Amino acid sequence: MTDQRPDITGFEEPDIEQGLVRLGAPRFHARQIFQWIHKRGVTDFTPMSDLSRELRQQLNDAFAIQTPQVVRRERSTDGTTKFLLRLADGKQIESVFIPDTPAQTFCISTQVGCAMRCAFCLTGKMGIDRNLTAGEIAGQVRVLARELDMLDVRFNIVLMGMGEPLHNYDETMKALRILADEHGLAVSPRRITLSTVGVLPALERLATEPVMPNLAISLHSTTEDQRDLLVPINRKYGLKELLDACRRFPVKRRERITFEYVMLKGVNDSPEDARRLVRLLHGIRGKVNLLPLNEAAGIPFERPGDAQVDRFAKVLASHGVTVSVRKSRGRDIRAACGQLITESRAAVAPGRRLAMLMEQGA
Ligand code: SAH
Repeated sequence: MTDQRPDITGFEEPDIEQGLVRLGAPRFHARQIFQWIHKRGVTDFTPMSDLSRELRQQLNDAFAIQTPQVVRRERSTDGTTKFLLRLADGKQIESVFIPDTPAQTFCISTQVGCAMRCAFCLTGKMGIDRNLTAGEIAGQVRVLARELDMLDVRFNIVLMGMGEPLHNYDETMKALRILADEHGLAVSPRRITLSTVGVLPALERLATEPVMPNLAISLHSTTEDQRDLLVPINRKYGLKELLDACRRFPVKRRERITFEYVMLKGVNDSPEDARRLVRLLHGIRGKVNLLPLNEAAGIPFERPGDAQVDRFAKVLASHGVTVSVRKSRGRDIRAACGQLITESRAAVAPGRRLAMLMEQGA
């Protein structure tokens, strides 16, 4: 049976205060509860020794402290560690720890699956199952920090795991506020990067937020026609509109928007593409991060050779565009960009799986 109690890990401090008021308890306990959960990583109310036994019991009757469970932990030869996590309803997601980039980075998910269906991304092949709650988004950070003994260490966060963060706007922003709270992990939004295909209405909303993460845009293409095919949401919110929104985006002093550009051999990797990219980015405070494709079975594209990637990067650099090439990490354990996929769906439909096997004559 699923737990009917509201999950208190998705509550901001004022929400916890409201909860206390309803229980007839003083509001000031909210900060203590928040600290126990988010700073010290406790997974039930019992250890909250500065609350009375009676209040702990009341809290336990009223609320759950949901914590993603580690199902599997895989370590790549380069130190990258991928976690398969199980949520309260049995759905599974992946989160990745990437050491020394040069910072320590957690790559976390915002949805179970993804609805964007980018042509080169494995997660997109899963389709969308559901949004994660704010508690589940922040919970990944808590679990990884605890598992890796990093609750007191500085780290960065990238919202580049499974899902499209701007397709789950409210819960994602709430998670960022919970993560930023000085009584919790206190991860400043300046150490968080949100990566998006460019869901325009949500991007416009993001531009008005008081606390804002760094922005990365998954551009991947320099023409409307090609982007329509590679990043299907382009048919709704086109390249031109997206770049106009980026031009208007309130980028802080000394900061820039990152444009991610997945490189697909013979598709978007020519010097001509690079020159078009330079022209498109004119007048935007941006930099380019090239992502040579991480190949996978079922992805109908190839990774260009290093020389081709170099040539592309040189064209950008020679026109004054800052460019970096993302070193792909954890490819041996399928933890690299676009390789996160979970099989919980196959697992819930064993009957269908059997039918498929029988069709194949197995
Ligand atoms: N939905 C968000 C965040 C997820 S992915 C977004 O699209 O921005 C983070 C980055 O990895 C995106 O730029 C995505 O396009 C890229 N990516 C997806 N599949 C990839 C692959 N097979 N190889 C390299 N990069 C990939």
